[in-house]
Amino acid sequence: MADVFGKAFEWRELKVARATGLYPYFKPIDQTDGTQVNVGGRPVIMVGSNNYLGLSLHPAVKEAAAKALEKYGTSCSGSRLLNGTLDLHVELEEKLARFLGKEMALCFSTGFTTNLGTLSAILERKDYVFSDRLNHASILEGIRGSFGEHKRYRHNDMADLERLLGNAPAEAGKLIVTDGVFSMEGDFADLQGIIALKKKYGARVMVDEAHGLGVLGAHGRGLSEHLGVENDVDLVMGTFSKSFGSLGGVIAGPKEVIEWIKHKARAMVFQASMTPASVAAALASLEIIQAEPERRERLWRIANKMRNAFRLLGYDTGLSDGPVVPVHIGDQIKCFRLWKALYENGVFANPVIPPAVEPGHSLMRTSYMATHTDEQLDRVIEQFEILGKKFKVLSEDAPTAAD
Ligand code: PMP
Repeated sequence: MADVFGKAFEWRELKVARATGLYPYFKPIDQTDGTQVNVGGRPVIMVGSNNYLGLSLHPAVKEAAAKALEKYGTSCSGSRLLNGTLDLHVELEEKLARFLGKEMALCFSTGFTTNLGTLSAILERKDYVFSDRLNHASILEGIRGSFGEHKRYRHNDMADLERLLGNAPAEAGKLIVTDGVFSMEGDFADLQGIIALKKKYGARVMVDEAHGLGVLGAHGRGLSEHLGVENDVDLVMGTFSKSFGSLGGVIAGPKEVIEWIKHKARAMVFQASMTPASVAAALASLEIIQAEPERRERLWRIANKMRNAFRLLGYDTGLSDGPVVPVHIGDQIKCFRLWKALYENGVFANPVIPPAVEPGHSLMRTSYMATHTDEQLDRVIEQFEILGKKFKVLSEDAPTAAD
């Protein structure tokens, strides 16, 4: 008889990765100042965090969280629907709706469950959803949990999207959903192309601004602000675990649609609400994001410096265009070896392997914070150069960073 646990007991790849010292995940951090963290008591420079503006350690954000913790305790102990709504949740939603220029906003406990809850609630039988192949896993889970007809288009390929839209029944409800900034490759969605197709085929558009909020656009409202298409985006999704330095997610759009999601999304009705400290931290970060555009500007300078340095060295950084800068490696074992060497030399980057990327397209994902110092960044570049050559990711005669 088959054992449902058999696959786990016999999972060879995991055992091999651990035995060879190449297993890179779930590293416990025992101390952090944001850009430098200690792992096992050893300091490493963090270039694998989504804390883009460094706000999780900002004194005002920490103080707001501490005050909320003192006032409301550690948990809301229930779902938003019943006992889990605080005045703070309502305040955050009202301020986010105003910030995003939408009628109404609704906060979930994580970004992941925001996508999951929204999509599974909004898509019903006979609805068609068109989703970029590189969209985040939470979008995929939301679609899988719905009764909608799922069509995946090739990454950022407007011709493929149009073909699928054209094949769908004219009378069907249609939603195009895309990451704004793609989480692993760091490139931007072609929102102008998507909006043009939305208009042509009478569809609606939802944009996941997880990596764009606080980071892109003159006011930090994300890729749709950056590209000037905010008014044509029907639903904006965001998360607080990145530039907001907290935990939780938001969906914003027309009032009736948000009311529907509020009452129908199982991840809203049956999930405990954001903790008081998380809500207060997100509120404090929202203030800073609006008041201090210089953080965004510094982040951009840093990201461009790193991208240019990697490209000069001969690394392939793909189409990345924001603070997520991947270095394409290809082979998974090569990627793990480079990760290990970087780590042993004081650099914490994120090796990304299938299924997060296509097989044979493993990459080292680096991401930056406005609070990184130039000295830290120079050291990261130096190590990528030395170790890239050592592990034959770069050729020996590649130019040096100083060239
Ligand atoms: N969407 C995208 C594009 C993401 O990158 C992530 C997080 N990696 C999420 C949604 C989920 O957000 P969270 O981790 O805050 O739950």
